[in-house]
Amino acid sequence: MRRVVCPGSFDPVTNGHLDIITRAADLYDEVVVAVARNPSKTSLFTAAERVELLREVTKKYDNVRVDSFEGLTVDFCKANGISAIVKGLRAVSDFDYEMQMAQMNYSQSGVETLFMTTNPLYAFLSSSLVKDFAKYGGDVSGLVPGPVLTALTSRLAES
Ligand code: ADP
Repeated sequence: MRRVVCPGSFDPVTNGHLDIITRAADLYDEVVVAVARNPSKTSLFTAAERVELLREVTKKYDNVRVDSFEGLTVDFCKANGISAIVKGLRAVSDFDYEMQMAQMNYSQSGVETLFMTTNPLYAFLSSSLVKDFAKYGGDVSGLVPGPVLTALTSRLAES
């Protein structure tokens, strides 16, 4: 069984994330989407909400599972029999940090990191940008899945 993980904050999941997750699901037996719980980081959605949204938008993919974790991604990998981390690369600006992280993870644990180039349609897309745009009334309907748009709109209306 070739099982890989797509880790991230997913606050909230965007079409860019979903593109990487579904392409990984075409290549591997199982993809675990792992939501990082970081109590010291402020997020718009709780980890449980982020997991719920991911489950909703990936429900048609039988080999995608959603979980959450706290701590090191490589420890999550070891605990779940995962041999590789799949990351999306948007631009060269992502590369330096991601390469450093991949080398650190491999040297500490032997867990590989595989990079997928972003779909050019989503190369500019990040959760932070989506939140900023939506907050000031921007139309993000083409950038996030429907259930995320609904959740985002109602969460921003609360604040
Ligand atoms: P962000 O706030 O930048 O979206 P995340 O931690 O939620 O950060 O992202 C998790 C991972 O998803 C990133 O490390 C990256 O590998 C991938 N990713 C995020 N956005 C995109 C995108 N638009 N295209 C491809 N991959 C992406």
